[in-house]
Amino acid sequence: MKLKIAHLYPDLLNLYGDIGNITTIRKRCEWRGIQTQVDSIYGNEKINFTDYDLVFLGGGSDREQLLVRDKLIAMKKEISAYVEDGGVLAAVCGGYQLLGSYYKLEKETIPGLEILNIQTEVGETRLISNVVLESEKFGTIVGFENHGGRTYINDHTPLGKVIYGNGNNGKDGFEGVLYKNVIATYLHGALLPKNPVLSDYIIKMMLEQRGLPSDLKPLDDTIEENAHKYVVDRFVNKN
Ligand code: GLN
Repeated sequence: MKLKIAHLYPDLLNLYGDIGNITTIRKRCEWRGIQTQVDSIYGNEKINFTDYDLVFLGGGSDREQLLVRDKLIAMKKEISAYVEDGGVLAAVCGGYQLLGSYYKLEKETIPGLEILNIQTEVGETRLISNVVLESEKFGTIVGFENHGGRTYINDHTPLGKVIYGNGNNGKDGFEGVLYKNVIATYLHGALLPKNPVLSDYIIKMMLEQRGLPSDLKPLDDTIEENAHKYVVDRFVNKN
């Protein structure tokens, strides 16, 4: 048995170490004897999403988002069906924005996949910061953000409340979205190495979707927890 990961546009959507999220999922599976396979998807091929246990979309500049736009929209029906059926999807920043209705830039608007009822508009400044969130589901989450877009999530459940940093739009105090088995967030970092609780949640969802036992053997997360704690101490506790 192998868990299969589709990494969409690794050549274009991969900012600030986003690929580290995939490495983390692979490693945490490997340490538990679970095999994985990662397919890099460049969007010229027909993809059978039902073959996959996780779809990952990283962040990208506005230019790169414009470059993937048409290829992504071409797979809109398939990727939406995958999510509606409970498929696991993780998206960061530029990838998160593209899950929504649109990303409105100064001169043009990039249409999104309409998987989430969220809208993004570019603002006058970039929101750049380390970020600490408090999430009802996962506890404290840390990461790093750098985005021009402001995202409004309507009635969606956020990933967390911003304790430090800007989050979705710098105004409403929310960060990210949780929807079905989708985790969408502005947080780079890379996100998963510093938040093992999120990584294991994703792995559990992947196993459950396959109908496999999802009790995960605990790992020694000393290094990960130290990295996590460093961010909280520095920016929230001001140690
Ligand atoms: N280009 C988008 C923005 O600036 C996303 C950036 C990112 O992925 N870091 O809002």
